Amino acid sequence: MTNQEGRQTVTIIVPCYNEEQVLPLFLAAMAPVRQALEAECFLLFVDDGSKDHTLSLLRETAEKDDHVEYLSFSRNFGKEAAMLAGLTHAKGDYVVIMDADLQDPPEMILRMYDILQKEDVDCVATRRTDRKGEPPVRSFFARMFYRMINRISKTEIVDGARDFRMMSRRMVDAILQMGEYNRFSKGIFSWVGFRTHWLEYVNRQRAAGETKWSFWKLFLYSMDGITAFSTAPLALSSFLGVFCCIISMIYLVVVFVKALLFGDPVAGYPSLACIILFLGGVQLLCIGILGQYLSKTYLEVKDRPPFILAERCLREEKKGDVQ
Ligand code: UDP
Ligand code: MG
Repeated sequence: MTNQEGRQTVTIIVPCYNEEQVLPLFLAAMAPVRQALEAECFLLFVDDGSKDHTLSLLRETAEKDDHVEYLSFSRNFGKEAAMLAGLTHAKGDYVVIMDADLQDPPEMILRMYDILQKEDVDCVATRRTDRKGEPPVRSFFARMFYRMINRISKTEIVDGARDFRMMSRRMVDAILQMGEYNRFSKGIFSWVGFRTHWLEYVNRQRAAGETKWSFWKLFLYSMDGITAFSTAPLALSSFLGVFCCIISMIYLVVVFVKALLFGDPVAGYPSLACIILFLGGVQLLCIGILGQYLSKTYLEVKDRPPFILAERCLREEKKGDVQ
């Protein structure tokens, strides 16, 4: 899909949630990159139900610049939904996903495009080599999460991988075929396959504004990731069940032999209390695990749309008109 002059087109998707402070900086930083890029370049902002002036800023920008597009949600649906909306509406040969806060270095887009032209890959993705500037507790749990999920899931989830990447049209189409409601993009990118070239860079601080991710939100997101890409926790419940059965058999033999040899003195209240508590705990844990998968299945079955658009400004292919 090339444009009128035979140039290729690149669409850059930028999810934005309350980013009024950083948007002007972002646009300024992107200007030289858009000029230097050999391909025709569209910016597709996705306003994820921002409560500040992000949307009015986007409207103004789109009015002045016919290569700026935007979608706006009726409320906050989360970054995953914003990325999906962007991928659904992005046109062009290559699609980039990047954050608005300039933590993803814009100049890397040039390198990505270059690599996609020269090498036989469908995706150029980025990973951070360090987690500087992040609270240590968050880094610790993030590391634990990656170690665990890679052990229990068949899909490789790269530690430090960002959503910042450039993908070919066929890879984007493959991602769009995955119609799941509970989206965990880091897993989806890996699941669809295709050859990926990894670029590494040192972590950067946010240019302005604040992170939208609290520790709790990240924790829930990691749970989504585990349930979406592994069923190992369900196997763990079965394993715990078998384990408890074996232990109880052994204990039964011990009690029986003891009663035969030494009679049956009434004792064992503390041990009984411990056993009941332990088994109660194991049962609740297993029901909880089951509940996690059931709740995800429930949400999938309801088949709700992952996002609702309230407003959109998209350019028609080649003409630069508003659709
Ligand atoms: N974001 C979004 N919806 C949300 C939360 C975040 O679209 O509900 C966007 C946000 O505007 C930014 C990107 O996702 O462009 C990354 O968010 P942030 O910088 O807060 O995350 P961090 O870099 O701290 O992981
Ligand atoms: Mg950020």
